Amino acid sequence: MAYQALYRQWRPRDFSHMVGQEAIVETLRHQVETGRIPHAYLFCGSRGTGKTSAAKILARAINCKHPKNGDPCGECETCRQMQSEDTLDIIEMDAASNRGSEDARTLRESVKYPPQYGKYKVYIVDEVHMLTKEAFNALLKTLEEPPAHIVFILATTEPQQLPATILSRCQRFDFGRIPAGQIMGRLREAADGAGAEATDGALMAIAKASEGGMRDALSILDMCIGYGQKVDEALVQNVLGTSDRAFLFRFSQALASENAADTLRLIDEMMRNGKEPAAFTRSVSDHLRTLLMAKCCGKEIAEVLDLSDATAEEYIRASEQISVSRMMEMLDQFMRLETDLRYYASPRIGLENTSLKCCLRTKEADTLALNDRIAELENQMSDLRDQLAKGVRLPANENAGGAQDRKGNGPAAARISAPKAESPRTLTPTGRGADETWKEGLRQLQKTEPSIHGMLQMGQYQGSDGTTFKWKANPGFEIIVQSLNSPERKSKIEEALTAAAGIQSSFLAVDRLQEARENAEASDEEYMREIYDTFGREPVSVVEKLPDA
Ligand SMILES: [Zn+2]
Repeated sequence: MAYQALYRQWRPRDFSHMVGQEAIVETLRHQVETGRIPHAYLFCGSRGTGKTSAAKILARAINCKHPKNGDPCGECETCRQMQSEDTLDIIEMDAASNRGSEDARTLRESVKYPPQYGKYKVYIVDEVHMLTKEAFNALLKTLEEPPAHIVFILATTEPQQLPATILSRCQRFDFGRIPAGQIMGRLREAADGAGAEATDGALMAIAKASEGGMRDALSILDMCIGYGQKVDEALVQNVLGTSDRAFLFRFSQALASENAADTLRLIDEMMRNGKEPAAFTRSVSDHLRTLLMAKCCGKEIAEVLDLSDATAEEYIRASEQISVSRMMEMLDQFMRLETDLRYYASPRIGLENTSLKCCLRTKEADTLALNDRIAELENQMSDLRDQLAKGVRLPANENAGGAQDRKGNGPAAARISAPKAESPRTLTPTGRGADETWKEGLRQLQKTEPSIHGMLQMGQYQGSDGTTFKWKANPGFEIIVQSLNSPERKSKIEEALTAAAGIQSSFLAVDRLQEARENAEASDEEYMREIYDTFGREPVSVVEKLPDA
């Protein structure tokens, strides 16, 4: 029999097998028993807390002909149909990979058709916050007038990224982290089941390291068992120390140094450790994104990404070895692979292809590097112009920074270490257009606030209405938005823009989702205006007319 990862073997089959989340399970059981099923659920919580497992059980339970205490019976006709993976009544979508407008259309079409066997057709949408605007709109339309046979179960690790219009139409359940004691109990069952000898101390160390996520806990145990039949604390420490992050650093290092042989060896090692190419690809994207942010924002990433100082330091050190253009190119390749992976018959081949592409540099990469060089030269010229205007002579060693990056040490490194100017010059209201003002503001920030300037490189200037300058985060960098809108950073950016424009200017950072939300709110407002136009703005009370007694 093929080896099956522990977390798959121990995925709960029904509510009684779930670990933790007792209050949620109780409510869901009650809903199944009474048949009071809302049209949309929202399961929130960090990874590995049981959202997807609960969704799958619930999907089967509400379709079961004879549920037992809210659990699917596992025996009736529908239960047996639902157990086969290819049932058409339970549709699982990963929003991270089903993002296109094509998928949105398919969704809108498919909800029209009734379920094949059971009472409900259930859509489980994982990572729902990753949906595109089109997909959100399609989902909203369905949630507004849901066909009676449709149930949505949306799962997300980041509910705060969801539009209010979606949130308000879902019944929300928050999955807390599972206490270490309960995780340890399940680890004990799994270790015994696998015939492995494990000490209590070892299992407790795993439970703690998994930070409340059952899936991670079982994966770590799996790795430990892979090393030997006796799992003790020393082995766990060993495995934890050499696991994920350290491995990702080795991998990105191999990519950056264009070492194809090492890269392929590491992929092989990853596969032998029982990891899935898709999950690994996503980790590599995350890792490269963090490296890029470390390169551009420096120490700020500790705060922005909620990392420990030591970890942030590790990223900063590693990022010094790779140029910005190389990192962007690699990140681009891996983000594309995340969506393309499903087209490969063997995901491993897809992963190997992309990794090799990163190692064997392409023409586009060289163009990117060239663009970086041009931007760098432009910046040096503007600095020179400033200094000449102030009548300052350039010290002889001043331009050494620009020459270094031929070795791939990255123009951004030079940019970040640019000397700090005393204070931005206040310009009289010049005839500068909005775009020119933005560019000038950026130039000032580069000198006075290099880390903010670095963050602004992770998105695009969207234009200005004259006084408000809008900026949108690139996909994958949504996390920067909140940081840039913090009062402290926002006011620094506004200061620079105001200086460049000569009039009071403001700044707004948005991401794709916020934009979608704004558009939705705008259409809500329009709707309210129509109502006001028709009925006037006076408060109206609706009175139910009782039949005459
Ligand atoms: Zn059943």
